[in-house]
Amino acid sequence: MNTPPVLEVEDLAVTFKISAGLGRARHLQAVRDVSFTIAPGEVVGIVGESGSGKSTTARAIIKLEKASAGRIILEGTDITAMSERAFRPSRRRVQMVFQDPYSSLDPTMTIGESIAEPLQMMKAVKGAALTRRVEELLALVELNAAHRHRYPHEFSGGQRQRIAIARAMALDPALLICDEAVSALDVSTQNQVMNLLIELRQRLGMAYLFVSHDLAVVRNVADRVLVMYLGKVVEEGPTEQVLRNPQHPYTQALLAAVPRPNPADRPDRKNYLVKGDLPDPTSPPTGCAFQTRCPLVIDECRTSPPALRPVPGGSAVACHLVTPDPEELRNVPRLHD
Ligand code: ADP
Ligand code: MG
Repeated sequence: MNTPPVLEVEDLAVTFKISAGLGRARHLQAVRDVSFTIAPGEVVGIVGESGSGKSTTARAIIKLEKASAGRIILEGTDITAMSERAFRPSRRRVQMVFQDPYSSLDPTMTIGESIAEPLQMMKAVKGAALTRRVEELLALVELNAAHRHRYPHEFSGGQRQRIAIARAMALDPALLICDEAVSALDVSTQNQVMNLLIELRQRLGMAYLFVSHDLAVVRNVADRVLVMYLGKVVEEGPTEQVLRNPQHPYTQALLAAVPRPNPADRPDRKNYLVKGDLPDPTSPPTGCAFQTRCPLVIDECRTSPPALRPVPGGSAVACHLVTPDPEELRNVPRLHD
């Protein structure tokens, strides 16, 4: 029997109701028609600028947000409509690390207590075995096990993030969701934490959903990447393919904004950056969500929303200018030209 994917997200939508003072309530579609799968041990990245629906997607997976449509299937079990109680056994299989470790680490608890907490709640281990497990987890994230009696404020940002990772790893999750997990750290600490995450995956084989507004961060870890814009996936595919040969004008613009070490392969950046603000998410543009900012917009983009369609090379792209026909693909105007 084949092992089921760790996670299947099918046509997920999350809508927030915004109270509009005196007027009628408005609806904000934070996530629209998002579908993807994560295989055991796979690393999937989600990128997109702030407000594109990345965190809402991540939060919906662990039922911190309610899906207004679609399905979330965790290790073969549909958890979409599950009660919190029914979800509890599955809950331990997916853990999340956030940008701000303060949100997951109680400042009044020693880090050893914080790491032990999920194990105690699940009644997984106790006594000397619990202490051993905490020490093992601290060693796993390359922290001194003797420091388990210290408090979060005694550690640096990078160390605190390691502690949050140790806590998330306590129950051997099949999927670790990292939502901007390294975004608050300086670049060298970022690299250290990223290397740790890569190493942990090699040793323990869990899958990651790696969410970041920073393409440079995702490019080093993700096997596959989803690019989100205004709640929708506009492009997805193998990371290599998407980053080497981005097809959607939004992906091209995002990539152009990533600093390159070698100025020779850095095109004139001002031509590429996405101009203007994200449209009001409570009244997204008709047709293609990106049409108000797209340098290549054509009439069709203003009226009909492009579907996410496969293109040669294993990617899928939602753009009227990109067709699955390889002959036509060559003629698509590119921001690089
Ligand atoms: P990202 O993580 O990509 O920055 P989010 O998922 O946080 O994006 O947000 C997507 C959209 O949903 C944004 O327009 C944001 O303002 C809105 N949003 C997020 N959470 C809520 C909420 N609890 N209530 C209302 N709107 C929200
Ligand atoms: Mg976010």
